[in-house]
Amino acid sequence: MIIVLESHVTKDSPVFAELMAFLNNKPGITVRVHEEVGALMTLTEIYLIGDTSAFDKTEIEALPGVERVVSIEEEYRILGRHRDDRRPTGFEYNGVRFSQDTLNVFAGLCAVDNPTHVEEMMKALAANGQVCTRMGAYKPRTNPYSFQGHGASCLPWVFDLAGKYGIRVIAMEITHDAHIDEIRTALQQTGAPTGVMLQIGTRNTQNFELLKIAGRQSEFPVLLKRGFGITLEESLNAAEYIASEGNRNVVFGLRGMKTNMGDPHRNMVDFAHVPVVKRLTRMPVCIDPSHSVGSRDRGPDGILDIQQVTAQAVISGANMVLVDFHPHPQKALVDGPQALLLTELPYFLEDIAIARDAYERRVKAAAAFQARQQASRG
Ligand code: PEP
Ligand code: MN
Repeated sequence: MIIVLESHVTKDSPVFAELMAFLNNKPGITVRVHEEVGALMTLTEIYLIGDTSAFDKTEIEALPGVERVVSIEEEYRILGRHRDDRRPTGFEYNGVRFSQDTLNVFAGLCAVDNPTHVEEMMKALAANGQVCTRMGAYKPRTNPYSFQGHGASCLPWVFDLAGKYGIRVIAMEITHDAHIDEIRTALQQTGAPTGVMLQIGTRNTQNFELLKIAGRQSEFPVLLKRGFGITLEESLNAAEYIASEGNRNVVFGLRGMKTNMGDPHRNMVDFAHVPVVKRLTRMPVCIDPSHSVGSRDRGPDGILDIQQVTAQAVISGANMVLVDFHPHPQKALVDGPQALLLTELPYFLEDIAIARDAYERRVKAAAAFQARQQASRG
């Protein structure tokens, strides 16, 4: 059970103290307080953990300072979308809003290679009005002899270039808790010219210790990729690990499932789960068409499979697109064959805008249909 307090009730107010005294008297219940700090106000939520079946929802709702009570199911207590749950979705980070209503494109390099390529990428993004990108510095690779990413050494110049071109958020995979400190240090050294969204990749979805560490800091939001060989429920629980440690700024990423049934795509594209994740949780949903499809193959209509699956996800409400681009894919150190070209960037964005517009029209049509149904019922 979650007790959502009225916005003026803070942790140091007498009303709060009275409420806590009342709740602490209840046997078998653990009370956990969470403050959601926003730009204009702080919302306080009290989590009651334990057997709340004896609690009367209306009685608690009548107590001073209580705005409403949300009954929660066992799963995804914090990130889940519970019955009568009208709590907002999403968050703002470094001037960029992420929610189940927004759409952000993170086009960029799978792996940072050299300053020239990074600058070419950032310049193209700025020219196309983009403020987000992806830049891999720590690369988990199947083969130990493959390029492992430049690691901490590239961070200062990547962040400086991001600042130069107005990039506000870089999605960057981490594979170890030390990487968070390295990112924080490099941002401090460069004067924080940009922001970072920590990416936890599909190989680490159930690295519970890494999830907990990412959850114990609230400086950086987290993009958690779905595990490629586990159920959706298991991956959503992994996201809840992050939130349960305190960081609720989590985006959930679909990137395809590992099975030969998806051949010839690199992974079995799972973007039909975009609306499912939005229904089960309040997380914004990201899709990664590059690692799902894994090639530049195109259909007889000339449209790349990567674009097709992106459009399929965006037309059903995806909130973020993480996609590989490279100025010279033949020179890329990782995943060149699936990279889109800088000359394709404006067209790729145009294609996404078409799908997003169609999605917004579909939402309006759904609302109008429901209103007609209600009116006809009287
Ligand atoms: C990536 O985005 O660079 C990546 C390695 O993705 P995934 O963890 O989904 O394989
Ligand atoms: Mn890659």
